[in-house]
Amino acid sequence: MSQTKGYAAMTAKAPFTPYVFERREPQEHDIAIDIKYCGICHSDIHQSRGEWSDYLEESIFPMVPGHEIAGVVAAAGSKVRKFKVGDRVGVGCFVDSCRTCVECKRGLEQYCTVHTVWTYNARDKEGKPTYGGYSSKIVVDENYVLRMPDNLPLDACAPLLCAGITLYSPLKHWQAGPGKKVAIVGLGGLGHMGVKIGHALGAEVTVLSQSLKKQDDGKRMGANHFYATSEPEIFTKLKGYFDLIINTVSANMDWNQYLNLLKVDGSMVIVGIPERQTLIGAFSLVTGRRSLAGSSIGGIQETQEMLDFCGKHRVACDIEVIPIQKVNEAYERVLKSDVRYRFVIDMASLKSQ
Ligand code: NAP
Ligand code: ZN
Ligand code: ZN
Repeated sequence: MSQTKGYAAMTAKAPFTPYVFERREPQEHDIAIDIKYCGICHSDIHQSRGEWSDYLEESIFPMVPGHEIAGVVAAAGSKVRKFKVGDRVGVGCFVDSCRTCVECKRGLEQYCTVHTVWTYNARDKEGKPTYGGYSSKIVVDENYVLRMPDNLPLDACAPLLCAGITLYSPLKHWQAGPGKKVAIVGLGGLGHMGVKIGHALGAEVTVLSQSLKKQDDGKRMGANHFYATSEPEIFTKLKGYFDLIINTVSANMDWNQYLNLLKVDGSMVIVGIPERQTLIGAFSLVTGRRSLAGSSIGGIQETQEMLDFCGKHRVACDIEVIPIQKVNEAYERVLKSDVRYRFVIDMASLKSQ
């Protein structure tokens, strides 16, 4: 066992404080990673504040969140073949799965029907709690570790491990590309990656944001159009316009209004996971043979494909790097939609703890 420094919420909604815990010794297929950077995902906020407790089997405290982990291999077990000491690697939202079910076999470990081991707020195969990336190091089986693009800065790539893959996967699955009109609802951590990746895939991208405050940024990231949803006339103007809408909003909202913006046979994919349930009117769907779908991150193979795609197209995240001591303030700013566009914790700041 090795002692690991981190930051934890000791109970739901408690502010983060320094916390020391144990990681397992690397086994023969494990890699020990020195964590250099970890992004702050809105899911960290939902979970550390107990906002998903109605949907999860349990919320485990103390909770060390963080599933946008970028670091360097510090040690490798005797049977590790894919990585060596010094490699730049990443860990996303899960660190293991059953490996034998139909979904695991087809590379959809995030939909494992037996047991996806989430990176934090979960239990490993031995029933021990998992702790995430707001910490100095992590030990993970090599099959659940990703190789980071070597031509892009490590800090700006950390959020690809969740925000990047969460948008890449549905954009690919619903075939965003040339000739397709795609809307991204919400320009936060996920949304800004949707704009960049959607643009790199060749789709026409429109941002639907609460205001026009982020318009210049959105256009710089590759958006063709940018509208403020506070202006009701856009819902008339854009009626029936989009092939695909990806909704990244973290708060409850009226999804029916957005379904009406889809063409016949269009799809709205929900990736934002608000605390409460949403009412859907049948008319919003049946009048245009529309689909409402959901999507969760991506499997290991697809996440590696996304990282390689981002390296090739030089797509990285827009980040604000902070010391870990500022994590509580950062959460408040994310809640105000005041993040440009992902906070990334510099783990060197833990040393001064
Ligand atoms: P974020 O950075 O806070 O971005 C969310 C954006 O939603 C905000 O920037 C804001 O964009 C918009 N928004 C916030 N409150 C709103 C409101 N009341 N009405 C309308 N729009 C609002 O969060 P994130 O990290 O991107 O995560 C977004 C959601 O996705 C969270 O619920 C998170 O848990 C979930 N998530 C899901 C997956 C998955 O696999 N499905 C993966 C990661 C995260 P504007 O300022 O542009 O309006
Ligand atoms: Zn996330
Ligand atoms: Zn499985």
